[in-house]
Amino acid sequence: MTDELHDPATFRTALRAWLDENFNSGEPAPPTDHSLAGHMQQFARVMRALYDAGWGRYGWPEHAGGLGGPDMLRAIVGEEIVGRRLAEPGPYSMIEVLAPTMIDYATPELAAEMLPKMLSGEEQWCQGFSEPGSGSDLASLTTRAVQQDGADHYIINGQKVWTSFAQFSHRCILLTRTGDADTPNHQAITAFFVDLDAPGITIRPLHTMHGVDEFCEVYFDNVAVDAGRMLGAPGDGWRLAMDLLPYERSTCFWQRIAYLYSRFDALVKEVSAQGETVDLDMGETFLALHTLRCRSRATQHRLADGQKLGPDTSIDKVLLAGAEQRLYDAVHDLLPGTIELDDNDWRTEYLYSRAATIYGGTAEVQRNIIARRLLDLGKE
Ligand SMILES: Cc1cc2nc3c(=O)[nH]c(=O)nc-3n(C[C@H](O)[C@H](O)[C@H](O)COP(=O)(O)OP(=O)(O)OC[C@H]3O[C@@H](n4cnc5c(N)ncnc54)[C@H](O)[C@@H]3O)c2cc1C
Repeated sequence: MTDELHDPATFRTALRAWLDENFNSGEPAPPTDHSLAGHMQQFARVMRALYDAGWGRYGWPEHAGGLGGPDMLRAIVGEEIVGRRLAEPGPYSMIEVLAPTMIDYATPELAAEMLPKMLSGEEQWCQGFSEPGSGSDLASLTTRAVQQDGADHYIINGQKVWTSFAQFSHRCILLTRTGDADTPNHQAITAFFVDLDAPGITIRPLHTMHGVDEFCEVYFDNVAVDAGRMLGAPGDGWRLAMDLLPYERSTCFWQRIAYLYSRFDALVKEVSAQGETVDLDMGETFLALHTLRCRSRATQHRLADGQKLGPDTSIDKVLLAGAEQRLYDAVHDLLPGTIELDDNDWRTEYLYSRAATIYGGTAEVQRNIIARRLLDLGKE
């Protein structure tokens, strides 16, 4: 049975049948509470149901609590869940952003203990990379981790910012500085897996322009973290970040694309209901979405073939940001006044789409990576 389900087409058919049977009549029902807290609860309920039925464990390695099979299987689960609007794309994406790197860098024991907690919705995790003075220039981060002589723990001091969903999270993959003044920047960074209820951590949500407290400031004031919670070795943090960011810039978008298609369909319906013809704007939007999906599909296949994702994922990120903003620009043009005058989902989503050229690395920085590392165009 398990081997048969490792075939993506068979897997998708069986998953759809299960979703039709379980999510139409039973729990968890589609979300009714549209606050962020409501979405987070719904996400946890959906993950629990998927995990208990096995679906949420496929595509993850057996040594970390998964049921194995190609990475593609977990992409299919995300696409079906988010495409049906059973969970929102933001919280869902954190699994794909954080879990693969956790599996690669945590000790096997820690990964085996922690992964099931995230996959089952028991825990939410967050990503503590950016700081007030370190975003695009991530290697300049200043949050410090110091090991006292002979101690089995590190003491962490500093501040992170824009940490998505930190107020709902149990753990954080945190980048810190451990080297001394002579250590080259990229060898001075070390990652830890930190419990967010540890004494000395303060989390302050930030209100965004789309009206949601989606991200936070996180303060670390003499926080003791066990040395066993280090991800990799001292100085491996930069390599970890370079391995994690490609997931954040590509595979985590597969389910977001399904969501954008569902919003495109909703827009076509609304425009048609107003007696308007679906015009060039919509054609261009569809083309942008389709180009993105083709690129993203190729990336999923490269991952499934065992290839390592790298700077080429900056292309996925540029296409995602362009397609998402194009879609909501079309909403702005085709449903006049909706975004400016109404308090509705279109308005919230339009405002959030402006962040697509910032999160996961800004559009300018992605274009620099494409120019320098993929096209070899030099520094200027
Ligand atoms: C919705 C959202 C969620 C986020 N979630 C998280 C999270 O969970 N965890 C986390 O760690 N971070 C998160 N971030 C932070 C995000 O990673 C940073 O905002 C991003 O890396 C940019 O850094 P910055 O904001 O400091 O801008 P800066 O780096 O200060 O950039 C400011 C401007 O200068 C430009 N610029 C900077 N350097 C260059 C350059 N070399 N060449 C050309 N232009 C340049 C940028 O493109 C930008 O326009 C999130 C951000 C957003 C918007």
